[in-house]
Amino acid sequence: MQILVSNDDGIKSPWLWALVKELKQIADVVVSAPDGERSAIGTAVTLRQTLRVNEVVPEVPGVIAYSVDGTPSDAVILALGKLAHGKIDLVVSGINQDLNLGEDTHISGTVGAALQGYLRGFPALAVSMEFRNGQGPVSAARIAALIAKGIVEAPAEPNLFLNVNIPDRPQTEMRGALITRLAHRSHINTVEEGNDGRGKYYCLVRQMTNNAVAEDTDVWAVTHGNISITPIYTSFHRRPPLRTIERICDGLLKELGLMKPQPAKTVSR
Ligand code: MN
Repeated sequence: MQILVSNDDGIKSPWLWALVKELKQIADVVVSAPDGERSAIGTAVTLRQTLRVNEVVPEVPGVIAYSVDGTPSDAVILALGKLAHGKIDLVVSGINQDLNLGEDTHISGTVGAALQGYLRGFPALAVSMEFRNGQGPVSAARIAALIAKGIVEAPAEPNLFLNVNIPDRPQTEMRGALITRLAHRSHINTVEEGNDGRGKYYCLVRQMTNNAVAEDTDVWAVTHGNISITPIYTSFHRRPPLRTIERICDGLLKELGLMKPQPAKTVSR
């Protein structure tokens, strides 16, 4: 089994390497990630300039790692098209250092990287963790590896693309895992003006809004201490196989020794 790993926080992110370390326990891993921070770059691809790739010394032994001077999407497209040898069974992006919930997913480079795998017919997983209490990515990495294993072992079905968000609390204090849908939430919800003497400037200000969300959403799940698993799909022809996702979610709860949260509402159809 071989897993391609990318992210949008850059190849030096310790959260990426925490994920790689766990995934290495279950598969061969090849890393292709941007050479620096590319958060909030969404699905951007580089078309009007050349890209350079460097093979770098991996922080986890036995892993092949490439640094790309482009976007997260570029890194995944390059890896799938050129850099990776042998069959790729899954594309994983993360662990992002902070959540990617609701409409944030449309500007997230973490989700963007996984999307490139999904669009090319590979199962894909985007993983983000809340950055609040300083737990660090170790338990999130383990959770991501359990879900990755569940996806790869799932019977061949329409392609899966899961966006997973993990609360920043010890594993023992997590309530459970819920299959959710994206909440409606505006990412950039205000514009501020200023003047620095050289003229007027503007700032796009990010604020948490719309916390009064429905109980079947990703925002609700994480706010209430649950791991959120959101199937993402691009058309009615690629609806997610819900039974498979439920099996993955149940398996994860069992491995973590967590109860199935009640009431556990599922994706509305
Ligand atoms: Mn990021």
